[in-house]
Amino acid sequence: MRILNKKARDSDCPKGLHYKYKTMNPFLNLAHICPSTRALGPGNRFAVWVQGCPFNCKGCIATEWIPFKKAQAVEVSDLAQAIISRGDVDGITLSGGEPMMQAGRLALLLRLVREQRPELNVIVFSGFTLKQLVWDEAKELIGHCDLLIDGQYVAHLNDGNGLRGSSNQQFHFLTDMLLPFREEITRIRSEIEIHLLDDGVLMAGIPSPNFNW
Ligand code: SF4
Repeated sequence: MRILNKKARDSDCPKGLHYKYKTMNPFLNLAHICPSTRALGPGNRFAVWVQGCPFNCKGCIATEWIPFKKAQAVEVSDLAQAIISRGDVDGITLSGGEPMMQAGRLALLLRLVREQRPELNVIVFSGFTLKQLVWDEAKELIGHCDLLIDGQYVAHLNDGNGLRGSSNQQFHFLTDMLLPFREEITRIRSEIEIHLLDDGVLMAGIPSPNFNW
């Protein structure tokens, strides 16, 4: 995949919850990608974390991905091709940061991927609740999503159960694609993974309540 030196523009950062993109910017502003992880849903998954989140949950483990700042600008079509070409993945997980703040471009990404890999299931983590996702781009992204795990992280409600950070967050099975894994998803917390990178480490997964990073 080509990660351009070009930085995302300041205007990529939405300033309101109902921000409408007047033209489709082909670039996602990403915090990180992981082309192979088993810590963020059933099977082997391609994980994408976006940069920028409007929330500031106490205990967030990804505070460096909260600011709406320029990070890695990745063209949607390039990322789609990178996912399509991974024959070893079973699904895609979108997290962040807040995916809904780049919902239009992520929806396009999923549309491009599923045109060629319709068997890939999609999990999206969002700090917004499903009821709050009323704007067009968010609804479009949800339309490509098989499981939405919604709501902000509440540290004292981290019970170590299931694929969610805290018990206030809800599992919304929006299609039947992930229903065979319902028990695993809602009850079992996967081990976190530490990926060694050239310039540091990447933690994938949802830490248990007493985890110290
Ligand atoms: S919604 Fe997620 S990324 Fe955003 S502040 Fe809360 S825990 Fe962190």
